[in-house]
Amino acid sequence: MYNRITLLGNAQDAGRPQLGCNEKCCIDAKEDKKLSRMPVSLGLHGEEVGLVEVTRCIEAQLSSINVSEISEIWLTHAHLGHIEGLGQFGRESLNSKGVKLRCSNSVADYVKSHPIWQKLFDRGNLILDKFNSDNIQPIEVPHRSQDFDTHSILFKGNANNLLFLPDHDNWNKTLDFVGHKNPREWFSSIGADIVLLDGTFWTLDELKGRVQAEVPHPPIVDTLEILGKKQTGDPRIIFIHLNHTNPLHYPDSKEYQKVQSMGWEVGEEGMEFNL
Ligand SMILES: [Zn+2]
Ligand SMILES: [Zn+2]
Ligand SMILES: [Zn+2]
Repeated sequence: MYNRITLLGNAQDAGRPQLGCNEKCCIDAKEDKKLSRMPVSLGLHGEEVGLVEVTRCIEAQLSSINVSEISEIWLTHAHLGHIEGLGQFGRESLNSKGVKLRCSNSVADYVKSHPIWQKLFDRGNLILDKFNSDNIQPIEVPHRSQDFDTHSILFKGNANNLLFLPDHDNWNKTLDFVGHKNPREWFSSIGADIVLLDGTFWTLDELKGRVQAEVPHPPIVDTLEILGKKQTGDPRIIFIHLNHTNPLHYPDSKEYQKVQSMGWEVGEEGMEFNL
């Protein structure tokens, strides 16, 4: 059982700076390394240490919590940024022995369908294990994918319950799917005290040249409109999975101030939460 969670990265799958971006967001992050951000991942602390999502920054992320050995990995889904670091468990790097991989069947099938990752199972670096435990409960959410499903994960503790929801398509679909009228009602029904929430884009205007209808994330402006200000009894809601274009990367931006003035928070690398 875990008693503490560390946020090991607050960026969207591709991190910040993002390969190929020559806009201000990434020029700033290239000029000042302190502004670079790693993709979303969580460290789970208890008698053993677990990891949620395996990003390409896994070495730096585990070093940041002084950990070199982990016992298990949880995956929400198999979009590349969330699984890119799996190869590091293989012979060329850690060469781990029997680290448990806990994910849905469709995510497991997807991962194992790639020869490079199949080897990790053949060689015993990873072993599949069940996708739930007494205190960890995956909750499926709709998120663009033909090949696998996507889950949020609820971590239950004696002090707090934390819901990790880095990726979902939009609130209409998710609320329909989980059977609740609004996020507040859903979070309350599962007893969430802390929600690490998909905050990929501030608005869809950040997606110059991409078809907005295809974007599989609700913009934060929509989420804020649905939520309104923080009320008594509400969980802490902390926006994570920030795209490189997201103004929330700048604490002095008016967008950051707006989130704070409404009583909500922006995820920062190294944040810790007691369960
Ligand atoms: Zn993602
Ligand atoms: Zn950028
Ligand atoms: Zn995704």
